[in-house]
Amino acid sequence: MSAHDVRLFGDAIALSRLEDRFAKVKASSLLRLAIEDLFPGRIALVSSFGADSVVLLHMAAQIDPTTPVVFVDTGQHFEETLRYRDALVARLGLTNLVDAKPDAAVTAAEDPEKFLFASDPDRCCDIRKVQPLASALDGYDAWITGRKSFQSATRSRVPLFEAEGDRVKVNPLVGWSASDLLDYIRAADLPPHPLVAKGFPSIGCLPCTSRVAPGEDPRAGRWRGRTKSECGIHTEPLSVGQDI
Ligand code: SF4
Repeated sequence: MSAHDVRLFGDAIALSRLEDRFAKVKASSLLRLAIEDLFPGRIALVSSFGADSVVLLHMAAQIDPTTPVVFVDTGQHFEETLRYRDALVARLGLTNLVDAKPDAAVTAAEDPEKFLFASDPDRCCDIRKVQPLASALDGYDAWITGRKSFQSATRSRVPLFEAEGDRVKVNPLVGWSASDLLDYIRAADLPPHPLVAKGFPSIGCLPCTSRVAPGEDPRAGRWRGRTKSECGIHTEPLSVGQDI
């Protein structure tokens, strides 16, 4: 049985059929199912500790605070994000934060001045995001993402469950709206990322994130002025050693 034929209540069920079965299930129930029943001990939550990340982090902490939480520490984050990460981990009682960092030898050879983002952002994302995440997820059968379909045209058709090579990607919040997220954050009295109030509805690395004007696509501030709209984490299967 592969990770794509997950065991559910004693029966093997194909990944493609999970989508229909769980389309109406609450995100927190889906997350519990993924962590406790579908992939116990074999699933990690990948979090950018960005604008909406607190929702999934809070849900995961309620279910199991030992759930591995992978943060890709690119070396180019806003200081506000790093402080927010540390504050949230402490506040939510998460006990298994994994900082996935780029290979020091690779960044020393290819991006010693930290300006690769300007000349070759795809390569920069490869060595600072994609490869560290692939290494961190080695050994896991599944990972949880916080993607929402309202975020951008490229994310409008993201399913709840996605096959990705030998691994399964679970996207519990895909059907949530911006106001659903806000309602959850307010009801649970969770702290927002400090940059949200400053006009950043989507937050990535400092050199590649700009403010968004009212009415713009929430991800319009990411790699503004370039054709790039995703870092590569969600566009290619992740595997260790693969130069994606
Ligand atoms: S988002 Fe920008 S700085 Fe961050 S890894 Fe990608 S290109 Fe580099």
